[in-house]
Amino acid sequence: MREDCLFCRLISGELASYKVYEDASIFAFLDINPASEGHTLIAPKKHFESFTELGAEDVAALFEAARKITLALEKAFSAEGSNIGINNGEVAGQEVPHVHVHVIPRKKGDGGRGIKSVVWTETDRTDLENMAEKLKKAL
Ligand code: 5GP
Ligand code: ZN
Repeated sequence: MREDCLFCRLISGELASYKVYEDASIFAFLDINPASEGHTLIAPKKHFESFTELGAEDVAALFEAARKITLALEKAFSAEGSNIGINNGEVAGQEVPHVHVHVIPRKKGDGGRGIKSVVWTETDRTDLENMAEKLKKAL
């Protein structure tokens, strides 16, 4: 619990939220400014700023909760699909520095686009080869 973290304060109950799910390590609640009907945020109860700080068990718990909630959202709101994602870091659009997964239910004709609409760059085959080499070295 970080006193200066908005989501820690929602999770502790100090600030009100529309909680939809909770277990030993996870807290899920409606986004106050939803991108679509049912837009839900799923967060670890423990404060981590970035996705890369999570351990394997934290990741498993977070994404298992996201999977369950995606199923429930699609059923509850008759959605035909969802965008499931994390804005990791300020440069990627993260506004609240407590890691959370967005589940945004989607319907045909809602006017939204896919995950590649967040950023785009032209790339050729040689670039791909170099990218793969660079990444493999870093892993
Ligand atoms: P991020 O940009 O960090 O990935 O997402 C932060 C999300 O938190 C935004 O979609 C924003 O609408 C939501 N949000 C910001 N403040 C509050 C709040 O006080 N309560 C709730 N439920 N959601 C919030
Ligand atoms: Zn926090």
